[in-house]
Amino acid sequence: MAIDFKLKDFCHPLPILRLRRFLERSQWADEADLERYQGDRLRATVRHAYARVPYYRALFDRLGLRPEDIDGPRDLGALPVLSREDLRVRGHQLMATDLWRHRPVRYRTTGTTGEPATVYLDKHTNVLEFCYYWRYWSWGGYRLGRPFAELGVHAFLGADPRAEMRYTPWTRKLDLNAARLGGVAVVEFAGALRKHRVAFLKGPPSGLHVFALLLERARLEVALEAVFTAGETLLPHQRQAIERAFHCRVLDSYGHMERTVGISQCPDGGYHVNPEYGVLEVEKIDRLSTDSLTVGTIVGTSLHNRAMPLLRYRTGDLIELRPGRPRCRCGRSLPLCERVLGRTQDVLVTRDGRYVTNAFVVFHGVPGVAWFQIVQHERDRFEIRVQAEEAFTAAEEDKVKASLGRLLGPARIAVRRVTAAARERLAGPKYRSVVSHVDKDLPG
Ligand SMILES: [Zn+2]
Repeated sequence: MAIDFKLKDFCHPLPILRLRRFLERSQWADEADLERYQGDRLRATVRHAYARVPYYRALFDRLGLRPEDIDGPRDLGALPVLSREDLRVRGHQLMATDLWRHRPVRYRTTGTTGEPATVYLDKHTNVLEFCYYWRYWSWGGYRLGRPFAELGVHAFLGADPRAEMRYTPWTRKLDLNAARLGGVAVVEFAGALRKHRVAFLKGPPSGLHVFALLLERARLEVALEAVFTAGETLLPHQRQAIERAFHCRVLDSYGHMERTVGISQCPDGGYHVNPEYGVLEVEKIDRLSTDSLTVGTIVGTSLHNRAMPLLRYRTGDLIELRPGRPRCRCGRSLPLCERVLGRTQDVLVTRDGRYVTNAFVVFHGVPGVAWFQIVQHERDRFEIRVQAEEAFTAAEEDKVKASLGRLLGPARIAVRRVTAAARERLAGPKYRSVVSHVDKDLPG
């Protein structure tokens, strides 16, 4: 997720400009105005879900509820939480019967949870995503049209996975291939950032951290205006190293493919929960909470997606909140949270000394995978563990193996199909999509 340029979503600029203007104003609006907006959108979403989504029609009928019974966020508790497993198994019942009217895009989510699910996100949700990120990035000084860079691997998986970078002139975006990150590439990355006058960089904390450490080791200077992190928990030592290497603030964020909750950090350090994006509820976990801190699981309700509206969706990530309604120094009325405690990715290291931080993307869009884990046993020996369903054929297996091979370079890669029971044993209580048993000798 980020400022993303997909022409087909944005051939009508009017909704974008309208929403952009609204979001510029609403961040300073009264709390009552924000609550009114949330209430209006929530009621419309619930009415639509009842009228068009078989899963919700059956659920409301079974509970003896009418859509009017959900008058605002505080009434949502009348509905059960929707788990990721529900989404995975009942996805077809969660699709609106008028799905195609909303011009949806289909996504397979893999992320860090290991159990892929299918989500449909409609045009309006994509417009929201664009405008929401536009506002968040503007907190770091970004203006539309200014050059920016992204450290990742997505942009290279389909095209040339061995390419180190790619610049797209019309969007002024420089893609840096995270899978090529190493002592040599870092010199070229730094040169390209300067050449294209890039002032903003986004990526996952673990990848940007390695990038920062390699820059320092090579004694290279790169001065940016802001770095935007997403996709993993940003650890304090990562923030420090990134801010030191790029001479700017890191503005962190939390989001997820299902797009029910959006949290973004302002320059004053506050993590703002964006109420125009979705409704956040927290399932409090008593044994982790104290009097001054509530810790619980994030439950989010989409306010925009008509193609597949998700009500009370449990994302599986933990959040910390202070009691009351603390205000941020920046003066924005958007509510604050303390931080989001997601799961961090492990880092793989290749035989030629490169660091691969997002290896789980090799499962992006692959069907029939109930669960997976990528394990590094030695510098050049890897194991892909898959709990497979029928759709994960031998051809799919070869594809995954080849994708990982392209990321890692020369390596022995074995695929091991595991049962659900074996998976429980292998995964342990805390899932990590990537596990490395190799001493990585990370600089710093
Ligand atoms: Zn703030």
